[in-house]
Amino acid sequence: MARSKRRGAPNRILVLGCPGAGKTTLARQLASDTGLPLYHLDDEYWGAGWTRPDPRRWERRQRELTAGESWIIDGNYLPTIHLRAARADLVVLVDTATTRCLLRVLARAWRIHRGDHSDLPLRVRAAAASASAGSASAGSASAGSASLRGAGASGPVRATRDLLPLLWMIIRFRARDWRAVVERACANPDVAMLVAVGRRRPGRRVAAVRGRLESLGAPSIVLPMPAAAALLRSRPAAPPGAKPHPGRRRQPRGKDRPMRVLVAWPPHVPSYFNAGHHLPTFTIAAYLRANGHLVDALDAGALNYSWKEFGDRVFQGRYQAIVLVNEFDLVEGLRRAVDYCRALAPDAFLVTAGRLSYQNPGFFRTLPLDAVVTGGDYEAGVAAALRWAGDGRPDLPGLPGVAMRRGDGWTEPTGPGVWLPAHEWALPDVADIPYVSYEQLYSRDQNKFCGIPQRRELVVPVARGCPIGCSFCDVPSMQGLRERRMTARRAVDYIRDCFARHPFEYVAFYAPTFTLDKAWVRQLCALLRAEPRRYPWKCATTLHHLDEALVEEMAAAGCVRISVGVETFEPDAAGALPRVKQRPRDRFEVVAAWCNRRGIELNCFVIVGLPGTTPEGARRTIEAITAAGARARPTLYTPYHDMRADMTEREISGFNRQLFADVAQVRSAGHEPEEFLKLIFGGDGYLTPVTARIPGAPRTTDAARAGAVSALNTEA
Ligand code: SF4
Repeated sequence: MARSKRRGAPNRILVLGCPGAGKTTLARQLASDTGLPLYHLDDEYWGAGWTRPDPRRWERRQRELTAGESWIIDGNYLPTIHLRAARADLVVLVDTATTRCLLRVLARAWRIHRGDHSDLPLRVRAAAASASAGSASAGSASAGSASLRGAGASGPVRATRDLLPLLWMIIRFRARDWRAVVERACANPDVAMLVAVGRRRPGRRVAAVRGRLESLGAPSIVLPMPAAAALLRSRPAAPPGAKPHPGRRRQPRGKDRPMRVLVAWPPHVPSYFNAGHHLPTFTIAAYLRANGHLVDALDAGALNYSWKEFGDRVFQGRYQAIVLVNEFDLVEGLRRAVDYCRALAPDAFLVTAGRLSYQNPGFFRTLPLDAVVTGGDYEAGVAAALRWAGDGRPDLPGLPGVAMRRGDGWTEPTGPGVWLPAHEWALPDVADIPYVSYEQLYSRDQNKFCGIPQRRELVVPVARGCPIGCSFCDVPSMQGLRERRMTARRAVDYIRDCFARHPFEYVAFYAPTFTLDKAWVRQLCALLRAEPRRYPWKCATTLHHLDEALVEEMAAAGCVRISVGVETFEPDAAGALPRVKQRPRDRFEVVAAWCNRRGIELNCFVIVGLPGTTPEGARRTIEAITAAGARARPTLYTPYHDMRADMTEREISGFNRQLFADVAQVRSAGHEPEEFLKLIFGGDGYLTPVTARIPGAPRTTDAARAGAVSALNTEA
């Protein structure tokens, strides 16, 4: 959640102070030192000819600006300061002597009058420039040139909408508004405050300001301007001494009553492994923590937990709530996990969330659970269910996106569930995630798992939702048809923070269609290139959301693998593909050539069993991909719409897209099962070259380990 960012450098900074205090200069300096996006409220507020915006539009604009995860906003605009303060990490108040402020404002007005428009708000300046250009072209024959001075024939540009009121504002700010700024900024208990004193001899003023702030109950750090600027450049987690406002206890988000919670991926032998699929365990945990709960997160599957170890954890943890993550791949162990929890923690509130409960919610009615999340974002549904349990509100009619047990029956979800805006997502705490075990799971490339063997992966979930809506994909029902995406700056900050804490070697961006928003990708690439170290990375998208210039930028920013859903080259299967994925063969050849030229591995998903295709067709598709120097990853067609509530676990596990084909079904469709099985289990001899492109420590490979064991046996 956003609050977890408090452990890092401040990313949402307000720069305040009276007119002429030097806010803009400080904000620009800060933006250039930190790379945070900078917004000047004067540019946002004033329209051409010093027109004011509609108040509602103005409020909406400020909410848009502050919705991002990182920004610097320069400007006071007191009536709406609460909107910005509520989202800020840090308030920097510039305190400059009144006479100096007055002189600066007058000097600025004179500069503008003389034709230097650089201090004017953006739209006022643009209008003045176009008026000047117009008058210049109209009068060029006679006058020969048009100076910006006084905007040429359009008359002098007003230096400010209201010069005299502006001068009055300076005096009033010192006398009265200063206090209001402090009080309104501190209404956010998490905000820290730094006062930068811009005076020639700041000593006595620093002491006076500090005393005044203390009398307001707002302890802050107060420093002369050069020291404050140096401190901001170093961007500590919070300026030392700038503590949250006293007397205001930091509240957990929402109204949640803190519970002791276990979020667990139950024990299971994976038929397939992708760290991104396990991530909900940790995003749910992080979100619940941000809501004030005490949370343990456990990936018992990847940790190869025995059922005894899982039972120990459940029994000894004395949890008030247990969240079991569900998946097609672990359905066979789910009932056992629920039974263990019921037996070993009988008072715990038991809830499940995951891919399977979205596709087949009816199946879960047969399990002794208290709640099943069936829609919206997992963490939103889980948090709502825990709030229900913690508040003891069985009188509520139900919850959106969550089925709740009531006696022997179930209360249906009251709506489709809550999709959280991206700025409310909680990024996983890497200390929770067994990345060492994940690396082991990726170690043999023949398995065709999604990771890069022998290199430690950091998964960064940057987007959710996909508007493309392939009929064989569960992303739209799991995450919605509208894409939501976190800011590129937040993603890069997270990467930097995680690499500082753990020896990661590359990044896996987890997004359904990574290049759906190309402008975002370009911004991300620019930010990655500006980082002091290089982060190799991979992503997944479609062939049609790539262009050559973008591939070039991605390669320059460290991209080593792009995964794409090729699905099939068979013309008969066209009806099973969405429009944007039609004619994949032509597009594939082009994209493969771009990637080959730039040293990016193209990793292509092929669906075996797609309606209209044959096993031979799937094999032809795979051969064509390999011949073009790309990597083919066969997956199985899964008609999710055919699922039924009364299916057995074994039947449901057949819907696992990643591994097992029901041989009887294949035969009844008129195909030879052997051909299918060869595609999935036969191996293709392709080993990724990407490992060699990512710097990393040498590993003891399984082959080397096997050699060592065989040597020992021979010696014995
Ligand atoms: S483009 Fe990819 S993520 Fe989007 S619906 Fe199709 S398969 Fe799913």
